[in-house]
Order: sequence, then structure tokens, then C-alpha cells
Amino acid sequence: MRPVYLDNNATTRVDPAAVAAMLPFFTEQFGNASSMHAFGASVGGALKTARRQLQELLGAEHDHEIVYTSGGTESDNTAILSALETQVGRSEVITSVVEHPAILALCDWLEKHKGVTVHRIPVDAKGRLDVEAYRKALGPKTAIVSIMWANNETGTLFPVERLAEMAHEAGALFHTDAVQAVGKLPIDLKSTEIDMLSLSGHKLHGPKGIGALYVRKGVRLRPMIRGGHQERGRRAGTENAPAIIGLGKAAELALAHMSDEQTRVKALRDRLEQGLLQRIGNSFVTGDTDHRLPNTANVAFEFIEGEAILLLLNRAGIAASSGSACTSGSLEPSHVLRAMKVPYTAAHGAIRFSFSRENGEEDVDRVLEVMPGIIANLRSLSPFWKDKGAAKAAADTAFNPTYA
Ligand SMILES: *Cc1c(COP(=O)(O)O)cnc(C)c1O
Repeated sequence: MRPVYLDNNATTRVDPAAVAAMLPFFTEQFGNASSMHAFGASVGGALKTARRQLQELLGAEHDHEIVYTSGGTESDNTAILSALETQVGRSEVITSVVEHPAILALCDWLEKHKGVTVHRIPVDAKGRLDVEAYRKALGPKTAIVSIMWANNETGTLFPVERLAEMAHEAGALFHTDAVQAVGKLPIDLKSTEIDMLSLSGHKLHGPKGIGALYVRKGVRLRPMIRGGHQERGRRAGTENAPAIIGLGKAAELALAHMSDEQTRVKALRDRLEQGLLQRIGNSFVTGDTDHRLPNTANVAFEFIEGEAILLLLNRAGIAASSGSACTSGSLEPSHVLRAMKVPYTAAHGAIRFSFSRENGEEDVDRVLEVMPGIIANLRSLSPFWKDKGAAKAAADTAFNPTYA
């Protein structure tokens, strides 16, 4: 049986067309783009094309606003570290409690070792940002705001365009981790006030280990990696030409498939979600279902362990995830669901299904076929399920989800 891959927020398959675009740059066209001979020149041209492809996907004004990096993590780190140096007299960072570890771990370190004050803006039960708390945190000391565009676990979207305007009113820079948004949502940076944006190749059917940081023209960037003059001195090191070219092709393909993502992929997600809620009691969808990525469903099944569900799904040839790939392996439920005050009895059993344009109806059918049995089986073994009342009373009751 064909495996069912529904973990596209963790990583995606490289599109075969992107692989084909990359291959010549490992063999015939192996030159260094900086070289003063024909070997370098042809690579330089291809890198330029890739930059244009990315510019178009982002709706950026200039192609040199794009700086290639090794991925989302490096882009995130670069943006914040740079702002703390260029924003003279400003030493505070504002972020949210539900960011990716690429932001949160850096902020923890800055706070602990560099004397940086970090404001972590909370979210409500649906994962929506507390905009009033954000307004209050902004001030003359704010160097940079870093708030994600789309959450990797729930798909919840933040109103980054408005948040960027508010940051500017306080004289702060605005960065967004858009790793999950790029390729899934139409983006037009030139019509926003966003100063910096992170993206990653492997989340949009491009290769791993390549990403980009968009830096608006006029915004100063202090490089994190120093060395040669590549990327106009903003990120040293010989360009990873095959990966950059693969990312460019992936960007072009993402733009071409954008409407598919918004319609067909979204319909698959919705059918899975509704089908699960209909078939399985004591389950609910987490996140802001009115403002969400089209591909992500995060469904909590009460009184069981997500890890056990994933194990049985895997046995049935289905790949999904419990929250983020970065926190699975730990016994704590996801920091995102905890921030939303999802009761422990439910947060432990939350499963993320993330689709891509490569999924089809048969994938949804397959999950709907096996999932009710898996859940019933695990619940029959769960001590919490037998004593639901007591387990619930013990859990945080601040959150009131709508049950199926
Ligand atoms: C995957 C991810 C990252 C990290 O990107 P890498 O390219 O794997 O370093 C950062 N932020 C979000 C929201 C992500 O989903």
C-alpha cells in the first residue's frame, strides 16, 4: 500500500522539477559564481534567476532584498541578532509564546547571557495573539519584534501586516518567521511594512539546508557569518548553488500551485477534520479555525497519548505528527497547546495532519478508515478514559473547546 504522508509542516518532498533544475549544478556547471571565467558566469546567471523566482513569490520590490541562508533557523537568528546591533539604544525584543524553537531558544539565550529583555506575548484559547499586550510591550526600547506569520503546529495565522505597522509606530523593526506561510499563502511584501522575513526551502518542496532572509531595502543588516563578499557582504561563504537553484524552482512551482493550495488542498484538510470529528467523540480542533493555513489540521483526542496514536498510525503506513518535530520525543505536551491552555488530558493526544499539493482523496479516506479503530483501541486501555470525570476535573478547565 502507498504510504500516506501527512507531515508536510515538518518537511516536504523535493519536487522532481526542482531536483531536475539542481542536477546540472553538481556536474557540468560546478563553477564558483564568484570566479572570473565561464564556469562561474553560468552559475551566476542561474543564481540571479533563482533570486527573481523568490522575489516574485514574496512580492518583494527588489531581488537584492533576498539573502540566502542555510534555512529558517539561520534566517531567524540573523534577523534578531542584527537588529540588536543596528538599533542603537534599543535592547528589547518582543516575540510570542508560540514561536518555533529557532526564535524561542535564541531569545532564552539572549535573556540569560546578553542582558536582553524579552517580551513574550501570550495567546488566547484559539491561539490568537493578545494584541493589547503587544501594544503595551512596544516602546522606545524595542529593537525588534519577531512574530510568526503562521504557526507550524496549529496553522493559526497572526495579523503580521498590522503588527508591523504598530512596530513602526514605536520605531522598532518587524521580522516575521514565515517559514510555514511562504508557498501556502499569497504574499506581497512590497505592500506591507514588514522589514525582514524568514523562509525555508524544505517546507515548500525545495531542498533542505537552504533558506532566505528577506531584508527590505534601506534596513541595515549586520551579518552573522563573516568572510567573503557573497550576498553583498551580508552572508559570507560560497553560494550553495544547486540548493539555491532548487529553491528558486520550488518558489516558481509554489506560485503556480497557489490556487490549488487554497482550494483543493484546503478541501482535503476540511474533509479529514470533519470526518474525524464525526467519527470520534471527545475530540476537537485546536487553533483559530477562521484564520488558518489551508493545509494544517491539529486535532486533539482526549484521554490518550499522541505518541501511541502516531505509533499505530505509522504501523498503518500513515505519517503525522504530535505538534512539532522539534519537541516530540519529550513527554511534555507542545508549548503551543500549553500556551493556549488546552487541558493536559487533550493536549497529550493532539495530532497534527499537514497536507501538501501531493496529497489526494485516497489519503483522507485511508486516515478516516483506520483512525476510529486506533482511538477506540487506545482508549479502552487508558485509565483516564475509564474515569473521564476525575481526569477532567484534575485538568485545567480554563479552556472550553467545542466538542464533536
Ligand atoms: C521548520 C521551521 C523553522 C526552521 O526551518 P529550518 O529550515 O528547518 O531551519 C523555523 N520556523 C518555523 C515556523 C518552521 O516551521
